[in-house]
Amino acid sequence: KDSKTNRVITSQDSFQIGTYIKISIYSDKEVPAIQFDRIFEEIDQFEKLISKNITTSEVSMINENAGKAPVKVSSDIFELIQMGIQYGEISSGGFDISIGPLVDLWGIGSEGAHVPTESEIQEALSKIDYRNILLNETDQTVFLKEEGMSLDLGAIAKGYIADQVKTLIQEEGHQSAIINLGGNVLTVGHKPNSEAWSIGVRDPKGENKDIVGILKLQDNSIVSSGTYERFFVEDGKRYHHILNPKTGYPEENHLQSVSIISEKSVVGDALSTTVFVMGLQAGYAYVESLDQVDALFIMEDGSIYGTSGTKSVFSLTNNNYNLKE
Ligand code: ADP
Ligand code: MG
Ligand code: MG
Repeated sequence: KDSKTNRVITSQDSFQIGTYIKISIYSDKEVPAIQFDRIFEEIDQFEKLISKNITTSEVSMINENAGKAPVKVSSDIFELIQMGIQYGEISSGGFDISIGPLVDLWGIGSEGAHVPTESEIQEALSKIDYRNILLNETDQTVFLKEEGMSLDLGAIAKGYIADQVKTLIQEEGHQSAIINLGGNVLTVGHKPNSEAWSIGVRDPKGENKDIVGILKLQDNSIVSSGTYERFFVEDGKRYHHILNPKTGYPEENHLQSVSIISEKSVVGDALSTTVFVMGLQAGYAYVESLDQVDALFIMEDGSIYGTSGTKSVFSLTNNNYNLKE
């Protein structure tokens, strides 16, 4: 129960799509478990379409048929791939959902993570090109032009699913909720007392619970991409999971994390990865050119840069960091 508003907060969590999920709904009475079941079931269904690790998923079918045949997919997957290609175009391939061969090669986040050889990297790079993902709108098919190509939707899938969860919660008649899908945070409406939600921005050098500051948001999504999320250490060097599809190595540009504030979480998810690869200067300029999107950049030296819309909603709480004008 929320002491200030007397509203009941019902929360449930789960572990799905390889990530920790927590949903909290504010209501005048406890939310029945069946409503949460419906949401978790929907996430399951989506995972079955999208996971590279499930051999029967639509994405696996597309990958298996690379260089062979177009694969008919559901409208969700078609739309998601279409969006992925769009961010490839925006970043001239800095963001590329055909990055599968490189992601598999590094194996970051899995047991077998290791630094590949130069020739393995070149081989993987030769398969990556979002322009070789061919979509047929009429037939709703996806065709990877070259054999050995593979899609990896890891950089946008969670945001897309978070948006769908928000829609489901609203369809269930709730006006006030907060969704956390593996660090993709999505707020529904505002708190019952009309206050904005306070969302902590993760301290990239700290533990899970450590933050650099607080964002006040309503009806918004905040998604972060950072070097801390998944990485391994070899010979004393850290390798993180945001890869540069041109060099084949983790992107090293002095950024520790990028957080994107946007209405749609899928946009935030795509942009957090895209802008991370773009780097501070190009990324900052690009986000400023967009309507209703803002970004916070946390650098290795502890400086934080926020685009204009963050000035009124972000407050720094951690004195290991300093907010630049
Ligand atoms: P997280 O999955 O930790 O939330 P991101 O949303 O930034 O982080 O997505 C990172 C994932 O996206 C990687 O684990 C990999 O699967 C994929 N990926 C890595 N580099 C790129 C890139 N340059 N373009 C598109 N996808 C990428
Ligand atoms: Mg992302
Ligand atoms: Mg993400």
